[in-house]
Amino acid sequence: MEAERTAAGTVEDVLTVFLTNRECPYTCLMCDLWTHTLDHSVEPGQVLEQVDYAIASTPGVRHIKLYNAGNFLDRRAIPASDRDALAGRLAGFDSVIIENHPRMCSEDLRAFQDGLSGELEVAMGLETVHPEVLPRLNKQMTLDDFALAAERLQDWGIHARAFVLLGLPWTPAGEFGKWAERSVAFARGAGCRVVAVIPTRAGNGAMDHLAATGAFQEPTLRQLEDVQEALLPGPGRTFVDLWDAERFASCDTCRDARIERMGAINHGQTVLPTVACLECHAG
Ligand code: SF4
Ligand SMILES: [Zn+2]
Repeated sequence: MEAERTAAGTVEDVLTVFLTNRECPYTCLMCDLWTHTLDHSVEPGQVLEQVDYAIASTPGVRHIKLYNAGNFLDRRAIPASDRDALAGRLAGFDSVIIENHPRMCSEDLRAFQDGLSGELEVAMGLETVHPEVLPRLNKQMTLDDFALAAERLQDWGIHARAFVLLGLPWTPAGEFGKWAERSVAFARGAGCRVVAVIPTRAGNGAMDHLAATGAFQEPTLRQLEDVQEALLPGPGRTFVDLWDAERFASCDTCRDARIERMGAINHGQTVLPTVACLECHAG
């Protein structure tokens, strides 16, 4: 469970369900989601069981994210036969957020939306607008693909959310913020009403190899703070991803207070006073 600022401006609980199923067919360079996937497709009905269990464990929540470490419309991950039933299970939610690759955003999303009573939002990885880095991420997508997908979603009355990376391989650390900001601007221009900035991590093998050769370094907590400040206020809502954010900090004294501040900024969408630290002189 996490709390997130909604389109209505309130901060509400969101049930995030990480569905266990088959690995995503795209093998993006920076992705570590495959580490929690199965080697085989799940049987029809098993995704429903997972969702039923999650919903029953958290009564009263009005917003739900279904993240499947891949793409919602990947039939090898979520059987097509489960989708209609899934929409019925989600009928009580005000909003449903799923993730999908831009090139997989077909009319099937429309059909899924028709079965919902609340609104549907599709989260898509933009990652970066860097013209040399995006093709090398193996995302198998162009910026036009992303923009077209976002446009189609909006034509269908479906909201779009984007994931943007902070920290790119083959890019100087001093340019991390610039490229994240440009990428967020592109996502906003494409109509995404939410953009989540995710600090890129080593840990999936490929990124560790790049780090060992000097082609990649993780961003710092300071860079995450800076980009958050630079991107607010909107348009739309902009969040920085704080999962495991401790690893990006270099000062144990102010680390927790700074992460807490970023969480508060995520909720309020307003920049707050910086945290002063006598140890590292942050602030
Ligand atoms: S499309 Fe998404 S889930 Fe699939 S490999 Fe790329 S980043 Fe990972
Ligand atoms: Zn400090």
